[in-house]
Amino acid sequence: MNMAGSMNRGTSITLHDNGTLNVPENPVLVFIEGDGIGPDISRAAAKVFDAGVHKAYDGKRQVQWQEALAGEKAFAETGQWLPEETLDMLRQYVVGIKGPLTTPVGGGIRSLNVTLRQVLDLYACVRPVRYFKGVPAPVRFPEKVDMVVFRENTEDVYAGIEWPAGSPEANQLASYIKEHLNKEIRPDSAIGIKPMSKMASQRLVRRAIRHALDQGYQSVTLVHKGNIMKYTEGAFRQWGYELAETEFPEQTVSEAEVYEKYEGKTPQGRVVIKDRIADMMFQQALLRPDEYDVLAMPNLNGDYLSDALAAQVGGLGMAPGANIGDQVAVFEATHGTAPKYAGQDKVNPSSLILSGAMMFDYIGWREVGNLIRTSLEATVSAGVVTYDLARQMSDAQEVKCSEFADAIVEHM
Ligand code: NAP
Repeated sequence: MNMAGSMNRGTSITLHDNGTLNVPENPVLVFIEGDGIGPDISRAAAKVFDAGVHKAYDGKRQVQWQEALAGEKAFAETGQWLPEETLDMLRQYVVGIKGPLTTPVGGGIRSLNVTLRQVLDLYACVRPVRYFKGVPAPVRFPEKVDMVVFRENTEDVYAGIEWPAGSPEANQLASYIKEHLNKEIRPDSAIGIKPMSKMASQRLVRRAIRHALDQGYQSVTLVHKGNIMKYTEGAFRQWGYELAETEFPEQTVSEAEVYEKYEGKTPQGRVVIKDRIADMMFQQALLRPDEYDVLAMPNLNGDYLSDALAAQVGGLGMAPGANIGDQVAVFEATHGTAPKYAGQDKVNPSSLILSGAMMFDYIGWREVGNLIRTSLEATVSAGVVTYDLARQMSDAQEVKCSEFADAIVEHM
């Protein structure tokens, strides 16, 4: 990643009619450096990405990095926190990666991350969770966790449709509901609305099933609270099964069918579609994690479960993520800007580095993704780690952010 110059001599990734990517040998990938610790971790990640591509393809393939501005750097240079040019670049080049961004206080923007998701319709928040040998983890068998969470990003109680208690809107709504729908709401209630559509639920489940098929996972689990919220979460479950049946009839099989038709044995090559109630899923994640692969779920369940799973394998500092839509995908560090460490070359760049590995998988350069993951694991299991892991380990060699990246490159 040429942070300084970002000369653009590459070719755009484009989309085929069926939504799959057409990736040239020299794709342009967009990067947003990020605020706070963003420049430190971006520099470290850049070294690892470029070394990984070079090692895997020996110059036959090469990334042309194109910097886009967002956050404090954008504000300083353009007076805008999220310039239109940045959104256009992401639309044009289809795939990008970003460091963490400060949420401007009083800037009229709820959060730059939320704005990016909304404007580019990045409807699937994707969080792979697996254990890396050597990372201190709070459970006995963290290596049994290998799951990918697909969390719906645009609906549910997170849609931001709510009114404070005592407001004219809440009162009006409560009266309407009483008068026309015969349901009682206490007079001092705040009211939030939980919209969940068939379209948004199904496009999320579709992406989760495609991922399971592409990556050779055995199951997709729909995680919901449909036992209580029948018409929203219950419908999510129902729409998920329907989609699998209509769009992937040859490639999937429901868990019920496995028992009813196939004597409990999954037919060769099929992905099993099952569902679990969310509270039960938290237990299953701890007790029987090896029975779960891809998880698809509405916004709120996904928020809780993805952080809980990340904690199970050693914490959010190592957790990669992406927000993906039908046109654009943005890969990102899942932690914040940790401003107290900015510029100290101290923090752990793993979240951004592993998000980059996901990005290479996404564009079909799996050799690079795998190389990054295995060499990062080799580094950590050799006890070479940044301060955050070192303080939890007894015999670690604590290194700086940039030195950690160098060690990963050496392990390639
Ligand atoms: P944070 O930046 O994630 O930092 C909280 C703590 O987590 C840090 O003090 C540090 O813990 C640890 N940490 C975070 N990143 C780390 C790394 N790479 N390596 C090692 N340790 C790391 O959360 P915050 O302080 O609540 O938020 C700060 C700013 O970030 C806010 O402006 C917020 O809006 C923004 N934010 C952005 C994003 C995003 O862009 N995706 C996400 C979350 C928050 P110790 O102090 O224990 O060492």
